[in-house]
Amino acid sequence: RLYNENIELKGNIRVFCRCRPLSQADLANGCASVVEFDGSHENELQLLSTDSSKKHFKFDHVFKPEDGQETVFAQTKPIVTSVLDGYNVCIFAYGQTGTGKTFTMEGTPENRGVNYRTLEELFRSSESRSRLMKFELSVSMLEVYNEKIRDLLIDNSSHPPKKLEVKQSAEGTQEVLGLVEAQVFNTDEVWDLLKSGYCVRSVGSTAANEQSSRSHCLLRVTVKGENLINGQRTRSHLWLVDLAGSERVGKVEVEGERLKESQFINKSLSALGDVISALASKTSHIPYRNSKLTHMLQNSLGGDCKTLMFVQISPSSADQGETVCSLNFASRVR
Ligand code: ADP
Ligand code: MG
Repeated sequence: RLYNENIELKGNIRVFCRCRPLSQADLANGCASVVEFDGSHENELQLLSTDSSKKHFKFDHVFKPEDGQETVFAQTKPIVTSVLDGYNVCIFAYGQTGTGKTFTMEGTPENRGVNYRTLEELFRSSESRSRLMKFELSVSMLEVYNEKIRDLLIDNSSHPPKKLEVKQSAEGTQEVLGLVEAQVFNTDEVWDLLKSGYCVRSVGSTAANEQSSRSHCLLRVTVKGENLINGQRTRSHLWLVDLAGSERVGKVEVEGERLKESQFINKSLSALGDVISALASKTSHIPYRNSKLTHMLQNSLGGDCKTLMFVQISPSSADQGETVCSLNFASRVR
């Protein structure tokens, strides 16, 4: 595929849709798949509506339930490796809880996701360019919950977690002050760091999955490059973001803490949608300041930065309503 060459022509914003398989629970509940794929167009899908009409959607790529982590990474690789060329890159996983956002980004120990594969590829690519360039890679991990930023590489679960702030540097870039940046030299170190970060993320909550679906989890890779011929130095960021669940909360649940959480999630996800669609439509005013998430990512969204959004969906008839919402959100940012 002429993927790299198409990158400029197609602009810097890309949307991939990934549909998970029907789960045991879907099958046990008698749910059928309402998502159909087009055999001859690998970037299209159709969603069956309750009135049996079909709604058609087109993305930069569509991954079917049987597409594994390797297939997904093959399409993602050219975008992540552009960080070595000095580009800032953001990759998001968006969708309803249970559709595979964490599976795509984090994966499982047997079936590793985009995060680990990316670092593996960055080590491999930087090694192959080592006669021309010297690279230094470091990793940061953070969580945004109720518009508060928490460092996941500091185990602060027993204390009130330290709140991090986004500040503008003297160079005019947005920086997360005091964020840990751990230099990494090989994939074993990366795996250990990722595991400890994921672990800190789920501590402090009785229902780990519940909490994780209500916060955004961000992995930031900082690449410092030095050109060995002319001495030119670059510094760029690659952000890998597992977003909070996009589902609308039921009316019954909407009170107290849950109400506050869902308002924060709605606010930050719509702020992200607004920023990306403003960028896609080349509007001059980009509303970065409307959420912590977009403010923090300001220097990695827009300009010549590269953005990839994975829109994760469920094939199940039970999730039809949320699936339409996610696909509409995705069509808006494309
Ligand atoms: P989310 O993070 O969006 O809430 P998860 O990543 O936790 O969703 O996925 C929910 C469940 O579905 C997990 O058990 C996960 O392993 C499984 N799953 C998700 N996507 C896939 C896929 N493409 N192939 C196989 N299993 C998947
Ligand atoms: Mg998750």
